[in-house]
Amino acid sequence: MGGWIASASVGYASAGYGAIEDMVLGMTVVLAGGEVVRLKSVPRSAAGPDLRQLMVGSEGTLGIIAEATLAATRVPKGYLWDTFRSHSFDSGAALVREIVQRGFRPLVVRLLDEADASSVFSAFGPGGGAMLILGLDEGAPAVEAVRFELRQLARELGARNLGPELAQFWWDHRTDAVAWYDDVMGPERILGTGTIADTVDVAAVWRRIPRLYELVRGALLEHAETVTCRLVSPYSSGAGLTFSFVVRGSDDKDAEQSYRHAWQEAGGACLSAGGTITHQQGVGLLKVPFMTAEMGEEAVAALRAIKGALDPSNVLNPGKLIPPL
Ligand SMILES: Cc1cc2nc3c(=O)[nH]c(=O)nc-3n(C[C@H](O)[C@H](O)[C@H](O)COP(=O)(O)OP(=O)(O)OC[C@H]3O[C@@H](n4cnc5c(N)ncnc54)[C@H](O)[C@@H]3O)c2cc1C
Repeated sequence: MGGWIASASVGYASAGYGAIEDMVLGMTVVLAGGEVVRLKSVPRSAAGPDLRQLMVGSEGTLGIIAEATLAATRVPKGYLWDTFRSHSFDSGAALVREIVQRGFRPLVVRLLDEADASSVFSAFGPGGGAMLILGLDEGAPAVEAVRFELRQLARELGARNLGPELAQFWWDHRTDAVAWYDDVMGPERILGTGTIADTVDVAAVWRRIPRLYELVRGALLEHAETVTCRLVSPYSSGAGLTFSFVVRGSDDKDAEQSYRHAWQEAGGACLSAGGTITHQQGVGLLKVPFMTAEMGEEAVAALRAIKGALDPSNVLNPGKLIPPL
């Protein structure tokens, strides 16, 4: 749980349940000097800035989360699935925007671009388009009527209903990619040496999503053999996009060089499209070079000042998250 909070995580059903910051009620944090800070469990407080949120995304640099209390939600009775095919990723994103801004609250919303959909369902491509997966709470009031309305809305925006089966299949296999990632990057190296697989996770407000998709994908394609993208977390104001990419080289060193170029250019593309360089996976060491462009010098200086106050000897995860002076 400490890792989820410290890396500002977001799960598969974030459309319905929110992200980790929406669930944290209270926390016990041990500071670098051994002081124990107890932040009591309350639904909200106006007693100054929210120190719980200071810890969300702090990546272990400001303190160690020793305890946390999270808000629980009733378990859904089950999921009522539906799948749609839209003409393009952009028109699919426009449909997702309509869904969330009109107040529909599916638990799961995921828009796969053509490459991503084809990697899950080989029969999907070619032919362009994107696949939208919706998962509603089966026990929610009037859920069948809501599904009917969603189908109507999708039709109005040019998307074709494909029924529930593909979405259900995707849900049942949603973590297969993790095993594949382990096989490629772990000791097995099933694609051989000289192969690196990774993901870039970015976010932006709705009007910037089409350009964010185009620029980041284009930057990655300059170096990667495969690039897939999915819209993973919709908000009323915007969404997160996750790109997976595979870089191949003659050996690991060659692949690493392409990998670093891919990241550098994808990060630059994201920032020029007005996005944030990370939606849910955090900064770590890899994205530190982007932090000044991401936040601005003054904000980085403020973050450094907070770090200096809480961890003056710089013993907690030195070098992570915060660019050095
Ligand atoms: C294949 C794969 C898929 C992923 N998919 C998703 C996804 O769908 N959504 C998503 O949000 N993220 C995803 N991630 C990234 C994810 O956010 C983190 O890997 C994970 O949530 C972190 O939890 P962990 O327990 O593994 O923490 P770790 O990896 O152990 O740590 C993460 C960071 O938090 C710090 N930390 C750990 N524990 C504490 C603590 N108690 N107090 C303070 N700091 C601490 C660590 O120092 C480190 O900086 C994925 C990662 C992988 C490898």
